[in-house]
Amino acid sequence: MKTNLLDLDAAALAAFFATLDEKPFRARQVLRWVHQRGEADFARMSDLAKDLRAKLAGAARVEAPRIVGDSSAADGTRKWLLKVDGANAVDAVFIPETGRGTLCVSSQAGCVLDCAFCSTGKQGFNRNLGTAEIVGQLWLANRLLEGPRPVTNVVLMGMGEPLLNLENVVPALRLMLDDNAYGLSRRRVTVSTSGVIPGMDRLRDACPVALAVSLHAPTDELRDRLVPVNRKYPIRDLLQACKRYLEKAPRDFITFEYVMLAGVNDGDAEARALARIAAQVSCKFNLIPFNPFPRTEFRRSAPERIRRFAQILQAKGVTVTTRKTRGDAIDAACGQLAGEVADRTRRGAKLRLTEAHA
Ligand code: SAH
Ligand code: SF4
Repeated sequence: MKTNLLDLDAAALAAFFATLDEKPFRARQVLRWVHQRGEADFARMSDLAKDLRAKLAGAARVEAPRIVGDSSAADGTRKWLLKVDGANAVDAVFIPETGRGTLCVSSQAGCVLDCAFCSTGKQGFNRNLGTAEIVGQLWLANRLLEGPRPVTNVVLMGMGEPLLNLENVVPALRLMLDDNAYGLSRRRVTVSTSGVIPGMDRLRDACPVALAVSLHAPTDELRDRLVPVNRKYPIRDLLQACKRYLEKAPRDFITFEYVMLAGVNDGDAEARALARIAAQVSCKFNLIPFNPFPRTEFRRSAPERIRRFAQILQAKGVTVTTRKTRGDAIDAACGQLAGEVADRTRRGAKLRLTEAHA
């Protein structure tokens, strides 16, 4: 079986080249060919010696997941459906904006955590994606989209819980950050977690990127129901883990995601309780209108309710953005937060404003 180079971060690629009796700088050259130029064919890596090209062709391959669906919405949002061996398809969604483009990446096929309002959770757990399958989404998007470096931001907010697959997620993150690969800054790469505390600590030590935490409820009683992993890692402990993460985070705040479920977690009382949580850790809130899917018991909060909820938080000094729904026609959100990134990228500007006032 040939080694898939998309599975290897810079260190692993250098180690692989050592087994081929090749120097580390050759590995860096190939890293640039594969990730910066999107080249999969060793024969076309023109500045490599012919015998090295042949050696690589015999021992290695560059293989991303197979695209089985490709759809675009009028607003430019694009969604790919990717077939991964022995599992259901996963998706990757690209959201263009002026001056930036955000790719929403999946980390698992399915998810074991079974949040009440999540269609991925309802599909059950299939398996972890490998590093090549995770970074391969970025590799494909850059190849298929127009223009130089179309993807400027990555969010791990597609299918799956990234912190339950750190073994494969961390090398993929390292490639996203590597100057010889994608060269994204840590603040332009965001991992979203439902609150898997040991994973938060491990990510903090291995590769601290921007962190989003799916809070969705201000009390353990309600969060136990919506986000079952809360029974293991309750809110008080989660907030402590957020503080530990911030010691090394590339941003000085945690983004709390909060899905707006009509009549469930969207009342004035919940907003006030959230403001008390927000006072305990440097954070900002992202309100996400619920994205309905077949057979769900939940409904999306009305726009007026979401506005009022945001106002209560803002009145208490909390920075809040509300997701704008995007790519609806192609179901880009698909139970996930693909559309959320449209706000996420704007938030940077908003936050700087807030800081300037502080
Ligand atoms: N497992 C991670 C990351 C993937 S889900 C996590 O839970 O954070 C990304 C975001 O989409 C999470 O905030 C999740 O709660 C949210 N989400 C899931 N289903 C949704 C739905 N139907 N509508 C709106 N947001 C949803
Ligand atoms: Fe898994 Fe995230 Fe969906 Fe919860 S919201 S089931 S953690 S993918």
